[in-house]
Amino acid sequence: MKLLLRRAAILLFFSLLVLVGLVIFTWQYVNNSSTWVQHPANRHLYANGKPINLGTIYDRAGRVLLQMIDGSMSFHGDKTVRTAVMHATGDMHNNVETSAQMAFPDRLSGWNIINGIYRLKSRSGSGSNLTLTLDAELCAAAYEELSGRKGTVGIYNYQTGEILCMVSAPSFDPENPPDIDADPEKYEGVYINRLLSAVYTPGSVFKLVTAAAAIENIENIEEKRFYCDGKLQIGGDLVTCMSAHGEISLSQALASSCNVAFGQLSLELGPEKLQRYAELAGFNSSLEVNGIKTAAGRVELADAKDVELAWAGIGQYTNTANPLNFMAYMGAIANDGLLVNPRILRERRVLSFVNASAGENKQIFSPDTAKKLKALIRESTLSIYGEDTMRGLGLCAKSGTAEVGGGKRPHAWFAGFLDSEEFPFAFVVVIENGGFGSRVAAPVALKVLQAAVNSF
Ligand SMILES: [Zn+2]
Repeated sequence: MKLLLRRAAILLFFSLLVLVGLVIFTWQYVNNSSTWVQHPANRHLYANGKPINLGTIYDRAGRVLLQMIDGSMSFHGDKTVRTAVMHATGDMHNNVETSAQMAFPDRLSGWNIINGIYRLKSRSGSGSNLTLTLDAELCAAAYEELSGRKGTVGIYNYQTGEILCMVSAPSFDPENPPDIDADPEKYEGVYINRLLSAVYTPGSVFKLVTAAAAIENIENIEEKRFYCDGKLQIGGDLVTCMSAHGEISLSQALASSCNVAFGQLSLELGPEKLQRYAELAGFNSSLEVNGIKTAAGRVELADAKDVELAWAGIGQYTNTANPLNFMAYMGAIANDGLLVNPRILRERRVLSFVNASAGENKQIFSPDTAKKLKALIRESTLSIYGEDTMRGLGLCAKSGTAEVGGGKRPHAWFAGFLDSEEFPFAFVVVIENGGFGSRVAAPVALKVLQAAVNSF
């Protein structure tokens, strides 16, 4: 009897071991099989370590952006188009971490967890197709507007989340890759998609975060008047304006980008509140664009002295912003406070285990706050750019001229949205060391926006 018991125990032990092994395998399979299948040793997908078939990447209008047939990769027929979307498609050697080739290999190979690569084989090696939300011609127009300068242009539909324009410069023609090492200055960070993966000092576009905090926390802010004599003394330090703005309202302070007024507001709000609104606006966290993580901008006010807090509310100090995140914040202001997560894949629903579903939407503040903020931005935009700029489309925008130190020219920003049911577009333009945002980044943004409105 004792022997029998011992045998039963041993049997039970081994049965349990098998069961545990099965559970571990299933867990690993569900989580990692998409990585395993992409291993270059998989001869269904690779020959001599090179992919046989990747399927085809299309833009929203059905233009072929990248195609892989029998191991040879080809791109769009037009050089400017393929250069403009190079960061979206990826190059021949998978140098762009956030490209569709790198982010959605399962989708392109036609693999899925249930059928394996059945689809690939059944269609005699035709791979699978992927349609991006981008408009390739709009991207090409944006790339041309940057005319050789480093930076990024983004436009997205703040109601559907679709990214229509995503351009990062420098770029190159993926059909004829240049010798990057021969000109490191020109190709600095060429494999980085600056819209998704860069962070910059935001400068005055950040005043739209400070303004949101002021609207919700300072009573009768619309009636409040600020007085600017060109400088604000804080202890032994000074916050300065380009000129003395005199007695101004909040919307005038936004229009003239008055540092004194926004410095005062930051001190009145205090570090905790400003920090909270920065985080609501997406700072200190990433967005996921169909699973592609954006770089996180930073705002850290815990140890800021008063003068630093004032500069932080003006978008300087140690603040950094990711262009796509900031564009999504612009979209949320336009969209009654609801931030619709940007996405790059055309189809709305992607099976969750493919790990490419669009991120969650988020109500960042009340529709009432969004409405007040929108009215404020609209008023200040009208006073600078007039009724004729994007006539009838309710342009709301803010420029930024972000000081970067080191004797370099400031980064030029222009961010905003169209308050339009027909063209619900939010946008961002950053030109590295470009100079004044309103003079340098604004014309680029307005031209690309006009192109967007014309093509949809
Ligand atoms: Zn001022």
